[in-house]
Amino acid sequence: MTRIDLDNNATTPIEPEVRAAMVVAMRDLPGNPSSLHSVGRRARDAVECARESVARLVRARAEEIVFTSGGTEANNLALVGTLSRPGGRLVTSSIEHPSVLVSSSFLESRGVVVSRVDPDPTGVIRSGDMIAALVEGAGLVSLMTANNETGALQPVREVAVEARKRGVPVHTDAVQAIGKIPIDAEDLGADLLTLSAHKIGGPKGIGALWARRGVFPSPIVHGGGQERGNRSGTENVIGIVGFGKAAELAAVRVKDYGQTVSRLRDLLEAGIVKGGVGGVAIGAESPRVPNTTDIAFEGIEGGALVQLLDLKGIAASTGSACEAGSEEYSHVLRAMAIPEELARGAIRFSLSFHTVESEIAEAIGRVIEAVEEIRGL
Ligand code: PLP
Repeated sequence: MTRIDLDNNATTPIEPEVRAAMVVAMRDLPGNPSSLHSVGRRARDAVECARESVARLVRARAEEIVFTSGGTEANNLALVGTLSRPGGRLVTSSIEHPSVLVSSSFLESRGVVVSRVDPDPTGVIRSGDMIAALVEGAGLVSLMTANNETGALQPVREVAVEARKRGVPVHTDAVQAIGKIPIDAEDLGADLLTLSAHKIGGPKGIGALWARRGVFPSPIVHGGGQERGNRSGTENVIGIVGFGKAAELAAVRVKDYGQTVSRLRDLLEAGIVKGGVGGVAIGAESPRVPNTTDIAFEGIEGGALVQLLDLKGIAASTGSACEAGSEEYSHVLRAMAIPEELARGAIRFSLSFHTVESEIAEAIGRVIEAVEEIRGL
């Protein structure tokens, strides 16, 4: 039985070109980028070259990119580093990734006032609601570019225009958007933007925060002053090289990604929804990244379906990777006011640039079979 990977929002396999670049780096770049000698300088050059590639992916300047240990740390840096004073105010949404949600709660415990805006029933935050929350004293807005569960694109640009008029900096978690849709950090209007390598064919454990020139949160990791003092710790040279190569590939592929991947996603969604097993596509009316569909089956436990699908050779997810296995159901679907009976049976399918049509046809059959088996029990 061939395995079909439909869980690419959780992570993506390392691309062969990325692996090759990392293997070379492992062999040829043993130095510490902070060392002044030639071995150190070679490592430094590789880090700076990768920084250029990551910057190009979001049409930014290299000096505005700070490498972190991943999207989670970049989100923590954006929020906690911007709002370290009690009495500040954060405006965010209720559908963010846990790295933003939990950072927000942490800030709240330190005296920051947090406003969490709910989405409409399709999973999109209404820009007007977010703007209305930009009251006096707001110190940061954090709104994700694309939701990891439904794929819904959020109105970052509209919110940023208004936030800018009020002098409020804007952070966007673009982890699920980069490589899937073209992103121009400047044009999006945000001041801070989070990236992660492992969602675009790069390694896990490396990400970055883009910060518009002149804007930078206070560091949250203190030490040797690497990354221009913004994020201490000896650079993850091998990971950074891998991130750079993945960004290069993604910058080329993103041109075709939309058409190629959305056609297959739509085939999958239609095949399952019309398959006679009660599948309901959640948030399908919203503008979405091209690779994601969230399909719910009333009366079924999503976790049980994911496990049966795994036995049938399909990798899918009940929602965000961090929530898999927990008793709670998706905070995103809850915020969208999807009835619990339906939300508990939601499965996220996320394709990659490498998904092919024969896999989609095969996956539709296996999903329908799995739901019928569970319903028959
Ligand atoms: N933000 C979003 C929207 C994500 O989907 C994820 C990962 O699932 C992250 C942040 C965290 O990124 P990382 O796994 O690099 O810490």
